[in-house]
Amino acid sequence: MINLEIPKKFVPLVGQAHQVAEEVFRPISRKYDQEEHAYPKELDMLAALIDGMNDGSDLGGAGAAGVRRTDNGDGGVRNGSNMSTVLGIIELCWGDVGLLLSMPRQGLGNSAIASVANDEQLERFRGKWAAMAITEPEAGSDSAAIRTTAVLDEETGEYVLNGEKIYVTSGERADLVVVWATLDRNVGRAAIKSFVVERSNPGLKLDRLEHKLGIRASDTAAFILDDCRVPKENLLGSPEVDTRKGFAGVMQTFDNTRPLVAGMAVGLTRACLELTERLLREAGVEVDYDRPAASQSAAAAEYLAMEADYEAARLLTLEAAWMADNSKPNSLQASMAKAKAGRTCVDVALRCVRLCGSLGFGEELLLEKWARDAKILDLFEGTQQIQLLIIARQLLGKSSAELK
Ligand SMILES: Cc1cc2nc3c(=O)[nH]c(=O)nc-3n(C[C@H](O)[C@H](O)[C@H](O)COP(=O)(O)OP(=O)(O)OC[C@H]3O[C@@H](n4cnc5c(N)ncnc54)[C@H](O)[C@@H]3O)c2cc1C
Repeated sequence: MINLEIPKKFVPLVGQAHQVAEEVFRPISRKYDQEEHAYPKELDMLAALIDGMNDGSDLGGAGAAGVRRTDNGDGGVRNGSNMSTVLGIIELCWGDVGLLLSMPRQGLGNSAIASVANDEQLERFRGKWAAMAITEPEAGSDSAAIRTTAVLDEETGEYVLNGEKIYVTSGERADLVVVWATLDRNVGRAAIKSFVVERSNPGLKLDRLEHKLGIRASDTAAFILDDCRVPKENLLGSPEVDTRKGFAGVMQTFDNTRPLVAGMAVGLTRACLELTERLLREAGVEVDYDRPAASQSAAAAEYLAMEADYEAARLLTLEAAWMADNSKPNSLQASMAKAKAGRTCVDVALRCVRLCGSLGFGEELLLEKWARDAKILDLFEGTQQIQLLIIARQLLGKSSAELK
């Protein structure tokens, strides 16, 4: 039987995350949108609180740090860290996406570590804030084209990394940066591995911080890796180049992180819908769930259509997270969730701005900001077009070489 209710054990988490979104994020949302690159210091206290609660806590699962696939052994159905994290993220992004991305120790790099690190690495990197650096000036959507190299120095037992990384979320503020680099550019995608680099490493040079359309509370950094030496124990996963497995090791991260980004989009979409519903109601437009949309006002009918899209995005997102928790291959569902939720979020945010007219466009309310914040959710962790490509490949049984 399918049970679509929030698992009972996660109800307190959802409540706490919502409270944080409402009482901490929303009040400072506009401030850090206007003061781009200023560090939201209010989050330090929040992070400390979460750290204090982390063992067995509820809100500890609200960021990206928790996602890991573990076998529950008994073959039963479970709701684990992927589900709790997505549920927490939905609530927090109802508050503010940029601030969620700025939460200390909850970066997408943490999720990469949680997904593929061995037990020793998990212990060593525990409690650190990790950013994720895949994108390069010549490699965005096509992450297999990255040029950053990693060469093993047998004498010192270190990898030496050289290259350029751009658009690294939390790159300036994090303690660690998980860097994708190739061990051998001639071998192709199988040689791409991820390396944990300390932010203080002198070979990791901050080049600049980007100015952006939305999520302006979140810092986005560009780095030069200049003979950047990292201990060989910092390679995540296996150092072997296995051409049969191809990209599998590093790509596994996306199966866990795409549902999280979809969750961000779901939360932001709900924020737009709730505010729009209130403004419509105040303007005398009642949405009636007992009457066909065609017999209601155009605004109410449009609202109902948007809500249907929101529900579809939410259910796909929960499905993808649930599959990750239950050790089921979820690449297809993760991409479906990300594609649907990202597109819905952009679409709904812009339609809400239109429906609310000048109230939607002005800075008095947050709708105009949400419309700007929405766009990134359809871009990073794979654009809309790339998700559709992945879905098509999976459904048609084609490889990435066969369908580009
Ligand atoms: C604010 C922000 C934060 C980011 N954070 C991170 C981060 O933390 N870590 C990180 O590694 N990266 C990050 N990124 C990078 C992000 O993941 C990339 O921007 C994204 O992967 C797209 O790459 P690109 O910008 O090079 O666009 P391109 O790959 O050049 O794509 C341009 C356009 O072409 C389309 N396109 C490309 N290939 C195809 C195809 N085969 N078929 C159809 N259409 C195609 C794309 O969908 C897109 O519309 C961030 C980006 C931004 C803007």
